[in-house]
Amino acid sequence: DTIEWSRGHSGKPPAAGRHQALAGLDARDITAWFGDHRVLDRVTLFMRAGEVTALIGPSGCGKSTFLRILNRMHELVPSAAMAGEVLLDGQDIYAASRRITEARRQIGMVFQKPNPFPAMSIYDNVVAGLKLTGARVRRNDKDDLVEECLTKAGLWREVRDRLRQPGGALSGGQQQRLCIARSLAIRPRVLLMDEPCSALDPTSTRVIEETIAELVAEVTIVIVTHNMQQAARVSNRCAFFLAEQGKPGYIVEHGPTDAMFNEPQDPRTSDYVHGRF
Ligand code: ADP
Ligand code: MG
Repeated sequence: DTIEWSRGHSGKPPAAGRHQALAGLDARDITAWFGDHRVLDRVTLFMRAGEVTALIGPSGCGKSTFLRILNRMHELVPSAAMAGEVLLDGQDIYAASRRITEARRQIGMVFQKPNPFPAMSIYDNVVAGLKLTGARVRRNDKDDLVEECLTKAGLWREVRDRLRQPGGALSGGQQQRLCIARSLAIRPRVLLMDEPCSALDPTSTRVIEETIAELVAEVTIVIVTHNMQQAARVSNRCAFFLAEQGKPGYIVEHGPTDAMFNEPQDPRTSDYVHGRF
């Protein structure tokens, strides 16, 4: 196999003073249920600040569930329950005194299927990200924010002349970048991405991978992907999830991406990353 180790940071420092410090996300002993169906069993993973962590593993082993637990989306499902702790920069996001909106404001999410508000303009789609914070932003600041977020999402040059067109008029890859721009509007400290390229063509996928490589300088990234080439290209570390027949998912092994691909500890990791699963 020829896996290209091209990942790396853009080398650009984050814009001075405009962002909070990079924050790591520490998931400890996470167990998750839907009703009495246990789908994750004591998953512990530290996702380091300033890195891209890739969650890999077969379908149904709980990767999406784990990702949703990281920003308290899991609790929106009435039958869902979880145990364990999620610490953002050392602070428990599930602590009784903490509000759910506070977690979501700091931890953005991008989904497999691009979901911009289709009838809303490109401009308003980005601004819509702010609604969550309740922040009042002046018009000029909004213009700056829209340009900044679209630039970071790699979309500005393509849409700068048609910001008033509906988000739904963009191509799939552009819509996904618009969703990334929208989630950046809240200036999250962590960006969770659940198979963000699965619905996209290879060219759009490449553009998003380049965007991820740039963004990680200012936002900690956790990405679920089924594409091992992509995991190799974009991530610093990988966690391999598995669920044996009828059992809850767990992490078989995690570590630096090159070690996971080239010298995994567990033969199942080797089989999975080399497509022998
Ligand atoms: P993955 O993302 O790795 O494919 P998921 O987290 O989506 O895995 O699913 C893990 C398990 O949880 C699966 O058995 C799935 O059927 C179950 N599951 C996921 N979402 C729900 C839900 N909303 N209600 C009930 N079961 C669910
Ligand atoms: Mg999933």
